[in-house]
Amino acid sequence: MTAAVPAPSGAAASDPADSDELHARTRAVLPDWLALYYERPLEITHGEGRHVWDADGRRYLDFFGGILTTMTAHALPEVTRAVSEQAGRILHTSTLYLNRPMVRVAERIASLSGIPDARVFFTTSGTEANDAALLLATAYRRSHQVLAMRNSYHGRSFSAVGITGNRSWSPTSLSPLQTLYVHGAVRTRGPFAHLDDAEFTAACVADLEDMLAQTRGDVAALIAEPVQGVGGFTSPPDGLYAAFREVLDRHGILWISDEVQTGWGRTGEHFWGWQAHGAAGPPDLLTFAKGIGNGMSIGGVVARAEVMNCLDAGSISTFGGSPVTMAAAEANLAHLLDHDLQGNARRVGGRLLERLRAAARPLGVVREVRGKGLMIGVELVRPGTDEPSPEAASLVLEAARERGLLIGKGGGHATNSVLRIAPPLSLTEAEAEEGAALLEQALHTAESQLT
Ligand code: PLP
Repeated sequence: MTAAVPAPSGAAASDPADSDELHARTRAVLPDWLALYYERPLEITHGEGRHVWDADGRRYLDFFGGILTTMTAHALPEVTRAVSEQAGRILHTSTLYLNRPMVRVAERIASLSGIPDARVFFTTSGTEANDAALLLATAYRRSHQVLAMRNSYHGRSFSAVGITGNRSWSPTSLSPLQTLYVHGAVRTRGPFAHLDDAEFTAACVADLEDMLAQTRGDVAALIAEPVQGVGGFTSPPDGLYAAFREVLDRHGILWISDEVQTGWGRTGEHFWGWQAHGAAGPPDLLTFAKGIGNGMSIGGVVARAEVMNCLDAGSISTFGGSPVTMAAAEANLAHLLDHDLQGNARRVGGRLLERLRAAARPLGVVREVRGKGLMIGVELVRPGTDEPSPEAASLVLEAARERGLLIGKGGGHATNSVLRIAPPLSLTEAEAEEGAALLEQALHTAESQLT
């Protein structure tokens, strides 16, 4: 059991229910399909730096950062200050009025995006950002046909879930879009897994060309995560999307890079995930969310003016770009850039990856440790086999929690058998080592229970 470490001040809750009662009430009033981690789900009440506290005062090292939402650190003072100052002035005004923080954040993101003559539209989630990107691309190209990657995840709305490649995350197979699924995002399993990087890329490009030869040439866009997030932190060989880009350009197909998980330097080497691919230019549309608000609900899409402005309907976004969320984004982004947290993700993430690879070497339960920056996946199998093991992932999650470490899971060909490690980007070397040691113990626990 983790030691009880006093939570930061302000722990009093006005609702007297204990965690078990809260769990029962949650199940009675919220949808069954909302996933909860752990046999006894956690109630997290506080955060500071890279740590969070539960309702019983237990402290955990947070290796999942919300769900990659805590980009810099929990309770970052600059963000807290900016939010409370803005909240003290006015919470919300809507896009019908000029909004100074929104314009400043849009200017910053437009310039960081690398997209020429960029326009930014703010939403309140990644789902809505992808929805907007699909709306723009299909309107611009006047086609409802899109390409998506196998094993992908792009959100929960009708169109976003409808194009999601992995049906285990899709409650419906109905979609307002006609979607064709492309090989390439998963390097480690599938029909091309035995090929080397160059052969793999060539095979995926040939597959894409073959697929396009069967359409009537009216595909609107390809949407792809540079590193698949929910899909288990799996990435193609660097260069795949540059090779795809050449094909897409020949057909006039737009490229939407879903950077909801990979943006803001999370992958270490690059600020955006697409940059790892050496494409000649940026994507036509880029979507973002998760970390930008450090936990505030912000998403958005960036596109060059010609694409963004192809809609002629007058429109608003009631909550997109709300001043209080923009104040958080501005302070958070400034902290990220001023403290070179991308560089920190590269350095600390690189060492953490090696440390975990060494820890996994003697373990039959680990098939692969992979990742970029502070986005590390540990794929688990039933020891002695190549069979994905969701059971192992659940055991590791529980054992890690017992030791005071929170991690995520997902992927593994729809089996939830990949551990996902994505701490706040300010993770220190000492915390990385502490987390790696705890995870190593949890992996040994799972291995011994499964053999
Ligand atoms: N796109 C990607 C790559 C994601 O990982 C997610 C969420 O996990 C989404 C889109 C949807 O974002 P949200 O949950 O904010 O709607």
